[in-house]
Amino acid sequence: MSVHGSCHCGNVQIDLPSQPEWVADCNCSLCRRLAWRVAYFPPEQVRISGETKAYVWGDRMIGIHHCPTCGCGTHWETLGEDFGKMGVNARLLDGFDEGAVEVRKFDNAD
Ligand SMILES: [Zn+2]
Repeated sequence: MSVHGSCHCGNVQIDLPSQPEWVADCNCSLCRRLAWRVAYFPPEQVRISGETKAYVWGDRMIGIHHCPTCGCGTHWETLGEDFGKMGVNARLLDGFDEGAVEVRKFDNAD
């Protein structure tokens, strides 16, 4: 079963192979502000179309992408090192129900 999602304005379209079984609720300095719920998938299983803008900070390991029109956070991806995964903001997925999946608290506040 594939799952579709989009940002609020529809500029960014996301396709995943399935709904995530769990999502991360991370308390790092950025996620805390953005309230993302992150689902992890191998990059080759994720299709993202539409223009996004990347925010890069700190150790510059990853780019945090958002829609430049409506501002929704869409995904993050590595800027070089191969993590074997990327993060998708599950809040953008059609039918995503936070109460129906496991929410794992990630403690990355430092
Ligand atoms: Zn948008």
